[in-house]
Amino acid sequence: MHRTLYEPDHEAFRSAFRTFLDREAVPYVEKWEQDGTPDRDFIVKAAEAGFLGFEFAPEHGGLGIDDFRYNAVMTEEVVFSGMAGDTFSMQNDIIVPYLLELTTAEQKARWLPQFVSGSGVTALAMTEPGAGSDLASITTSARREADELVINGSKTFITSGATCDLAIVLVRTGERDGRGTSLVVVENGTPGFERGHPMTKIGRKAQDTAELFFADCRVPVDNIIGEPGRGFGHAIANLPRERLSIAVSAVASARQAYGLALEHTQQRVAFGAPLSNLQSVRMTLGEIHTDILILQEYVDRCVLALNAGELTAEESAGAKFKATDLQWAVVDRVLQLFGGYGYMEEYPIARIWRDARIQRIYGGSNEVMKDLVGRAVVGR
Ligand SMILES: Cc1cc2nc3c(=O)[nH]c(=O)nc-3n(C[C@H](O)[C@H](O)[C@H](O)COP(=O)(O)OP(=O)(O)OC[C@H]3O[C@@H](n4cnc5c(N)ncnc54)[C@H](O)[C@@H]3O)c2cc1C
Repeated sequence: MHRTLYEPDHEAFRSAFRTFLDREAVPYVEKWEQDGTPDRDFIVKAAEAGFLGFEFAPEHGGLGIDDFRYNAVMTEEVVFSGMAGDTFSMQNDIIVPYLLELTTAEQKARWLPQFVSGSGVTALAMTEPGAGSDLASITTSARREADELVINGSKTFITSGATCDLAIVLVRTGERDGRGTSLVVVENGTPGFERGHPMTKIGRKAQDTAELFFADCRVPVDNIIGEPGRGFGHAIANLPRERLSIAVSAVASARQAYGLALEHTQQRVAFGAPLSNLQSVRMTLGEIHTDILILQEYVDRCVLALNAGELTAEESAGAKFKATDLQWAVVDRVLQLFGGYGYMEEYPIARIWRDARIQRIYGGSNEVMKDLVGRAVVGR
């Protein structure tokens, strides 16, 4: 069976992006893991090459491309390159819809040029120490004073939080009901806004994750994006795309691990023959191979549904939990097939394994995803 998602233009784009990553990312992955973040130079080069914000209109520095298959190609190639950072998925898949669909012409003119030049790395700050899955409980507040908002509170686990130039922050602007939250853009350097140090994580070490602090941080009311009071609703509208992005990367990671397993089990000799001569090993490979084929097909259909504006919250939640559960099961079984070598940092499967673990937690934990689908099927 051939995969039918992509057309020749997508494959040409893939090849250009792969060449870019081979040159500008692969040699530096170790360094970025030690630094805890990719070099800003790399992000600027990616922007110059047209790999950031290509969905924006040409007058805003983009290419006007409205086809999530290009995003999916990039996500897959980032996984295959071993880069294990969230820069592109965070910027292109998650942030772009907020800046594209919720901003006024004046706001676009302020922020999009920075974004597409790589000088406006953006974070999306929703989670708080006391509110993760239950986002409706956020307490970071924005009090209005004349033409300003005064923000107080903190956010945690924010991707690119230590290095972001802009943060889109979910704040409480009213009561805990459907209209009590807003999305506000806060620029780095604004008095009262502080970015925390990168948090020490067990995986995804080449990507900074940090806390953000707000202490009487004043921003113009004009920094609200979307409808005031509808922040939570805007976030929910964008979550299917975010979750699909995670699903795409999860299947790519499972495929990558499977490729390593095929190679290793045919080379590694035990009891006088390659591991792949053992029936139990072949059964494991056969099962992984088939699971990936089935799930790839579903995730690809979700990509087309997103393009058609038809992807539902439950379809995307299902893709997220199924793909990341499969990813985890596959990378763990593949690490086992590597024996002790799989536990050594110098073997790629070790890094793939530790980088995979977060996928079942962020973007909405898999338990919450399963409940979301369950609620949809029972109509609650
Ligand atoms: C590396 C990393 C990057 C992240 N990036 C960002 C970011 O850029 N922006 C951002 O805003 N957030 C980000 N997050 C936060 C992430 O989205 C949250 O960690 C996640 O939503 C879970 O919230 P929590 O950690 O507070 O866990 P909790 O909500 O406390 O959940 C704890 C456990 O309880 C379970 N649980 C909770 N509610 C239910 C329920 N209703 N039914 C069943 N089980 C439930 C969960 O599944 C989980 O197992 C990131 C997190 C990490 C670790």
